[in-house]
Amino acid sequence: MRNNLLDTTISKWTAEFTDPETEAEYRRRNAGVHVRQTRVGLCLWMALWLFFIYVDYVALGAERNFWLLLIVRIIIGSAILAFAIRTGRKPELATNGLWISMLLILGWTGFFTVFFLLPGDQLPWILAMFMTILIGQFVFIMNRVNWGAITASYAITGTVLSVWAVAETEPERMAILALLLSVPAATGLFILHRFHSDRRNSFAMLLHAEAANAELQKQIHARTKLETELKRIAATDPLTGLYNRRRYEELFRQELRRIDRYGGNLSILVIDLDHFKRVNDTYGHGTGDRVLKDTADLFLRQLREVDIVGRLGGEEFIVLLPDIRKSEASVVAERLRSKIGELRFFANNETFRVTATIGIAQYKTGDREIEDLIIRADGALYKGKAKGRNRVVIA
Ligand code: GH3
Ligand code: MG
Ligand code: MG
Repeated sequence: MRNNLLDTTISKWTAEFTDPETEAEYRRRNAGVHVRQTRVGLCLWMALWLFFIYVDYVALGAERNFWLLLIVRIIIGSAILAFAIRTGRKPELATNGLWISMLLILGWTGFFTVFFLLPGDQLPWILAMFMTILIGQFVFIMNRVNWGAITASYAITGTVLSVWAVAETEPERMAILALLLSVPAATGLFILHRFHSDRRNSFAMLLHAEAANAELQKQIHARTKLETELKRIAATDPLTGLYNRRRYEELFRQELRRIDRYGGNLSILVIDLDHFKRVNDTYGHGTGDRVLKDTADLFLRQLREVDIVGRLGGEEFIVLLPDIRKSEASVVAERLRSKIGELRFFANNETFRVTATIGIAQYKTGDREIEDLIIRADGALYKGKAKGRNRVVIA
C-alpha cells in the first residue's frame, strides 16, 4: 500500500483521480462491477433498439424503407450484443472510454438513418425520442465524462444535420434545435459526473482506511516483536543466552506442578568448571567469557528440547532433566563432562582445555523449591571437587 503517497485528488472536470496510479487501482478493483453494469445497460439498449422494429413496421408497412431500417437495426443490435459478450474477456472495453464510445457513435449513426427512412411527418416524434435516448445513453452506459461529452456532441451534431437535410429549415431554427438538444446532454453529463465523483470519493475513503489499517498492522507487528525480544531479555543471561534464575525457577515450578499431577521424576545437574579462576588469570577475562559461551552452546547442542539449561552464576550451570532419575542423569552428566573436556580453546598462542565437576540431585517428595535440590547437588559437587575434580557425583 502506497500509504504516505496516497493521492486521492479528484479532478473537477473529468471526475477521475488525477493520480494515474490511484485511477488505475480504482478501475482495476471496480472492473467487475463496472462490466456487469455496462452489460446490463447494453442489453437494455439493444432490447429498446430492436423493439422499435415494431414501431417502424406500423409507420412504414412492409415496404422498402422498412427492410432497410430492419437491416440497420439488426447490424447495430448485433454489434451491441457482440460488444457485451466481448467485455467478459476484455473489461477495459467497458472502462477505458474509447471502445464503448465507438459503439455509441455507431449506434447514433444508425439512429440518424431513421430521419431519412421514416416519413417526414414523424420528425417531431423522432426528436422527442432523441431526447429520451440521449439521457438513456448516460444512464445505461456509465462512460467516462470526457467521452460522454464527445458522443453527446456527435449525437447532437448528427441530429441537427439530419434534420437540416430532411426538413431544410432556416439557420435560426436549427440553432434553437441544437440548444434544445443540449438540455438532455447537459443533464446526462451532470448525472455521469456525479456518479463518477461519488464512486471515487467512496473509493478514496476506502483507500485511506486501508492505509490506516496497514499502518496499524505494522505497529502491532513491531510491538509484538519488541515484546518477544523483551521477554527473551528478561528470561536469559546476556553472556550465554541460557535461562536466568528467574526463568529456570519458573520452569522448575511448572515441572513440579506436572509431577504433582501426573507423577514422574526430575533430576538436576549442577555443573562447575574446574579452576576457572586460572583461565581468567592466564588468558584474560575475555577468553574466560568465550569459554563460558562455548560451554553453554555445547549444552544446548547435547541436551533434549525439554531439558532446561540455565546459568546458576559465574562459571556454574544448572540443567533440569524432566522425567529422568539420577541414575539416568549420571549418564547424561558423564556425556557432558567428556564433551566439555573435548572442547579446544585458543589463546596466547596456545590451545587449552577445561574440565568440569558435576553434582546430581533427584527430586524427592517434599521438595518445594529448586534450592532444595541445588543444595543436595552442591553437596555432591563439593565432594567431587575434593576428590580431584573432573568427575560426576550423585547426591
Ligand atoms: P573450582 O575448581 O574450585 O571451581 O575453582 P574455580 O577457580 O573455578 O572457582 P572459583 O569460585 O574460585 O572461581 C570462579 C571464577 O569464575 C571467579 C570469577 O572470576 C570467574 N567468573 C565468574 N563469572 C565470570 C564471568 O562472567 N566471566 C568470566 N570470564 N569469569 C567469571
Ligand atoms: Mg564455582
Ligand atoms: Mg569452578
